[in-house]
Amino acid sequence: DYVGSWGTAILGHAHPAVVKAVQEVAEHGLSFGAPTAGEVEIAMKICQHFPSIESVRLVSSGTEATMSAIRLARGATGRDKILKFEGCYHGHSDSLLVKAGSGALTFGMPSSPGVPKVMAQETLTATYNDIDSVTQIFEKYGHEIAAIIVEPIAGNMNCVLPLPGFLSGLREICDQYKSLLIVDEVMTGFRVDLNGAQKVYNIKPDITTLGKVIGGGMPIAAFGGRKDIMEQMSPAGSIYQAGTLSGNPIAVAAGLATLKEVEKPGFFTDLSAKTDYLMQGLLARSQAAKIPLSVNYMGGMFGIFFTDEPVVSHFAQVMNTDLPRFKKFFSAVLQQGIYMAPSAYEAGFISAAHTMQDLEKSLDIVEQVFSKFEK
Ligand code: PLP
Repeated sequence: DYVGSWGTAILGHAHPAVVKAVQEVAEHGLSFGAPTAGEVEIAMKICQHFPSIESVRLVSSGTEATMSAIRLARGATGRDKILKFEGCYHGHSDSLLVKAGSGALTFGMPSSPGVPKVMAQETLTATYNDIDSVTQIFEKYGHEIAAIIVEPIAGNMNCVLPLPGFLSGLREICDQYKSLLIVDEVMTGFRVDLNGAQKVYNIKPDITTLGKVIGGGMPIAAFGGRKDIMEQMSPAGSIYQAGTLSGNPIAVAAGLATLKEVEKPGFFTDLSAKTDYLMQGLLARSQAAKIPLSVNYMGGMFGIFFTDEPVVSHFAQVMNTDLPRFKKFFSAVLQQGIYMAPSAYEAGFISAAHTMQDLEKSLDIVEQVFSKFEK
């Protein structure tokens, strides 16, 4: 399984420590609608590992986290427009389902019916890894833009790494126009590094969103950031947000048990080494079979592209990859027991449960599959 619940299952499935934590907590009640000690503990862990998060609030899904972050940015700046990138996916709230990635892209509906035109008009879209496209939009609308929201590694149009200068360029533009920078680490948080992609790329967001790994397979997500901004949330401030099941004890227990595993020394070194082994193995086999292939990866996430372009860093390149070949590859490896994302526009994920033998077996299967491809 290289899907791992779309990046959530970093320890694999049914990790004993996670299952035990959930079972123990369940005996005491499922939800109280009030904060619990576990909730405070996980909040402190998040702040500890993400120094840009001075204050954090828990919610129940990545969609809720980004939706709330957008409302906070709009409320805090008094501006309505936001800027996102074509092919980036931030969940399915109205403001963010514009030129989206993930399933919206796979099923050919990147901008969904049902999103009111007035909402869609407030969402501007730029090109990922193209800072000029952002500058141009800011020159026109800069003082109306509440925030830029970005995936620090784009994981919903396959896997595209940020080019040097892209993320720092966004930071500078936000500072210049007094807009906020929302870094959506729902996928990358505790997935590419213990301190997120923001540590890897040395970028300081105003607001960060987290999800997936922090719940260990249970519904939990979070948004947090600068204290002066977070304090504007109700009840301390007037920007409203709430949730009956937010930070419920079961999800928190699964999340805490997961984070305790990923905090262990060497966890991310091992995970990254496995990803590297699989990706370099794939490249070697594709070269031997003369199948043009390109890969991107960081920590426990990766992307493979059937293309002869050596580096894939733009949405347009992703859209130009060989889709029929991907489909053939997907079906052939699935028949041999390998579960990849059923789309050329999704990232792949490695978990701590993958053994070197699993990876070796996967590479053997890929070698067989490639040998049957037409050149
Ligand atoms: N943000 C990013 C970067 C995501 O990858 C996703 C989901 O894939 C979301 C937000 C939405 O999270 P959820 O599916 O938990 O609502």
